[in-house]
Amino acid sequence: MPRRFAPRNDTPRKNIMATKTKEKIETINKETPNKEAITYDVILVGGSPSNLTLAHRLCELIKDKPEIHLSVAILEKSENFGGHIISGAVVNKTIFDKAYPNHIEDGMPIESICEESSFALLSSNKKFDVPNVITRAALPDFIKDGYYVLTLSNVVAWMAETLEKKAAETPNITIDMFPGFAATKALIEDGEVKGVQVARTGDPLEDNIYASVTCFGDKGFISKDIIKEFGIEGNPQLWSVGVKETWKLSDKAPNMKGKVFHTLGYPVLDGTLGGGFVYGLDNNRLTIGLVISLDSKNPNINPQKQLQEYKKHPWLQKLLEGGELLNYGAAVLPEGGVASLPKQYQVNGGILLGDALGLLDVKSLAGVDKAIESGYLAAETVLESFTTRDFSSESLKTYQEELEHSPLMDKYKKSKYFRKAFLENPELLEKYLPKLLDSIEQFNTPLFGALAIGLSDPIKATKAAYKSFMYLNMPEDVKEDISYKEGYKNIDPHFSERMRNRGLGLNKFSKATIYSREDAVFYAQTKYEEHPDHIDEFSAETCLTCVEKYEMIGIDVPCVSDCTAEVHRLDLAGNDIKVHAMSLENCVQCRTCELICPEQNLRVNAALAGAGPDFRGL
Ligand SMILES: Cc1cc2nc3c(=O)[nH]c(=O)nc-3n(C[C@H](O)[C@H](O)[C@H](O)COP(=O)(O)OP(=O)(O)OC[C@H]3O[C@@H](n4cnc5c(N)ncnc54)[C@H](O)[C@@H]3O)c2cc1C
Ligand code: SF4
Ligand code: SF4
Repeated sequence: MPRRFAPRNDTPRKNIMATKTKEKIETINKETPNKEAITYDVILVGGSPSNLTLAHRLCELIKDKPEIHLSVAILEKSENFGGHIISGAVVNKTIFDKAYPNHIEDGMPIESICEESSFALLSSNKKFDVPNVITRAALPDFIKDGYYVLTLSNVVAWMAETLEKKAAETPNITIDMFPGFAATKALIEDGEVKGVQVARTGDPLEDNIYASVTCFGDKGFISKDIIKEFGIEGNPQLWSVGVKETWKLSDKAPNMKGKVFHTLGYPVLDGTLGGGFVYGLDNNRLTIGLVISLDSKNPNINPQKQLQEYKKHPWLQKLLEGGELLNYGAAVLPEGGVASLPKQYQVNGGILLGDALGLLDVKSLAGVDKAIESGYLAAETVLESFTTRDFSSESLKTYQEELEHSPLMDKYKKSKYFRKAFLENPELLEKYLPKLLDSIEQFNTPLFGALAIGLSDPIKATKAAYKSFMYLNMPEDVKEDISYKEGYKNIDPHFSERMRNRGLGLNKFSKATIYSREDAVFYAQTKYEEHPDHIDEFSAETCLTCVEKYEMIGIDVPCVSDCTAEVHRLDLAGNDIKVHAMSLENCVQCRTCELICPEQNLRVNAALAGAGPDFRGL
């Protein structure tokens, strides 16, 4: 039976059903004598596409195992399922055919089906549509015809509702859904995940919830601790940040429904890997977003500001004229691919899924399909572990084996060397792309730029083109070394101002289409109880030194510039000293600041009691 619990501290404890075997309670009571032990068979951390699919699939599979009864708790930090979910999202429909075969009859919200997908190069003022035949040959991953265009937050809300119905029809499973309950810490004892600590309110009312298996679909919030504690790190994960707005277009705007654009170039012209997306939704709405890698040399990426620059492009200005901003939000994406996968996808008593594992394929900007697949496959392993009563990593490893052999992972594996193609050839983005864009700006074609590159730098350019082509097409089984370094280690405080501002600020634009970061927060609808304290600053001294260093150079400290929501700021303390401070009530929980802080002096924790942004509609 499914039940939802309110995210407030008056939640009646007696309502929390648990499967309590005598032995388990005895053990738990011994370990935590002063607390009432809450136990489940399975805890799912995050009401994510991966975890909700896991629970949905469990309901299907468990029907054939009447001898087993499972209790499942789903913890979601947002007040509503989907409320902290942000994505594009253009998704291959086949994953829904597999995991939710009745999704059409069951009313899954689909914005549109992609009828036309294009890839374009943007200079400051011009747009060059790469001919479709070239895109098909060179960038087939950006052909999205027939894919679903989704508002993922709405789909996740639908998944939660569908799950409630599914669980109600399944006598031998109890699914308790806890929106507004953040898992604050993984409980690890004796080399085993025992469950999680949960905070129900902002005050110190915390409970340990125990389970035989805990599944992490939490985009890294606490799963990063699992990876570290169990020593299963692969290469460091490379992260990017995605910033996105949805717009209601004016009645005069062209019909964009089903149109999907991906762009390279303006406004990300500083040599950082990044690109834009524009997706046509139902009801005359449009999604506009940018994804920017966080392993940039640039200490001031300013993601939200760059999104505003993107909208200043004449192509987008024309589309947005007379329109209205509906929502704004931001989230990070793991883009290291296969090379950054942990050595194990499971540990004793724990499983990692979706973005928490790193299953996003940045080459095709596709993570939803693999997140769903991971949940779908994990369900089989989880159920099997209750048949054998063996929750060890060894027993759970069928999950990893199944996932590695999933046909859906083939494309993902083929992108293994995608990041290396750019990391090994920085001149591609720093030098050659701007030349192609200059040529588009002047002559409406990249050809003269390509010619100029060939003539001015023939050997280097041929080498770079060859090397990047090799890496982009290199099969996964080639054993070429990949060693990434954490993104923040690339930051160059002395990165040139010219590069930072290249090609920007040249366009005329309608002021009504552009929002300051402060104003954008309003459209993320953040809501916190008084005095939120969900970001830890480990050392004030470290911040002082950092601020002093960047003040001397005359630029913003990275956390201030790159925050997507006007949280970090510098306050004037006595003696004219500037100190790092935070307006946490603005935070959209994206974790960008944690990832880019050059001193690794921050930790962004999950917002408590359902606080945070409201991304429904993103
Ligand atoms: C701007 C942007 C555009 C994208 N575009 C596309 C696209 O077009 N196509 C595509 O396929 N993919 C796209 N992606 C990637 C895709 O959205 C992700 O790969 C996918 O959502 C990952 O799903 P997941 O199951 O890992 O869970 P996530 O979507 O990461 O959701 C995690 C959930 O866990 C919750 N949570 C986190 N920590 C806790 C905690 N401690 N306690 C309780 N709950 C917690 C969060 O609130 C959230 O609800 C995009 C991503 C972004 C940011
Ligand atoms: S949080 Fe990090 S980036 Fe910000 S001032 Fe402190 S050390 Fe510098
Ligand atoms: S404070 Fe950090 S987590 Fe919060 S919005 Fe800013 S960058 Fe994102």
